Amino acid sequence: MKPIDTLSDLPARLDAVRERIRGAAERSGRREDDITLVAVCKTVSPERTADAFQAGARDLGENRVAALVAKREQLPTARWHMIGQLQRNKARAVMDGATLIHSLDRRSLADTLNRHAADRAVVQSVLVQVNVGDDPAKGGCQVTEVDELVAYADGLTNLLVEGLMTVPPLVSARSSAQSDAARYFDILRVCRDRVVRDIPTARHLSMGMSADFEAAICEGSTMVRVGTDIFGARVQAPGTRQEERR
Ligand SMILES: *Cc1c(COP(=O)(O)O)cnc(C)c1O
Repeated sequence: MKPIDTLSDLPARLDAVRERIRGAAERSGRREDDITLVAVCKTVSPERTADAFQAGARDLGENRVAALVAKREQLPTARWHMIGQLQRNKARAVMDGATLIHSLDRRSLADTLNRHAADRAVVQSVLVQVNVGDDPAKGGCQVTEVDELVAYADGLTNLLVEGLMTVPPLVSARSSAQSDAARYFDILRVCRDRVVRDIPTARHLSMGMSADFEAAICEGSTMVRVGTDIFGARVQAPGTRQEERR
């Protein structure tokens, strides 16, 4: 998909994505409003991000803390989602921006986030990120660690665990992406079905990107993170890691 840089394309692109969400929800017997569209605006200019917000994208996703905080200042009423890997030294700054942090992947990060949340007397919502494909290029805890990490974070007073998130391994051909990804989405759903029995708030499944969000909805996704199909192809900066490119 080629980059399109006119302002007027965003409403149509958002509508098209919403229409596909509606179709996938219908096919799988689910309600459309059980699925949140997170418009991933990483590498997108502040102006174009604001245009997407104007066009109705109220949930916005960023994978870098600095960009998230800057854009949050500009659009304070959007719900901001931190979807990228998080270093502990950025944990305090991310709380200036993130409504929901999708990338909790280890105890030490949970402790740090909890401490900063306590300092501010807030409760920070998080998702536990799971590396369902055991892919060294992807973040997240291992499937075998999910229950323990969810229980640990849930035990911290100032964190609220709202569910699980994953980025499945990169699949090469778009045509096979949906079926390959479905297998990984199913793994995450099984984990969620297990943890939600003890921790009812942990009901969300953040899964599905431009290449595979319809498959993710059929597997139970409650949050799809869509960048390319809304904003157009990202221009790749030199040295950009694989994960950021996906
Ligand atoms: C970039 C990114 C997305 C969006 O990917 P697209 O393929 O552009 O839709 C979703 N989730 C994460 C974690 C990302 O880094």
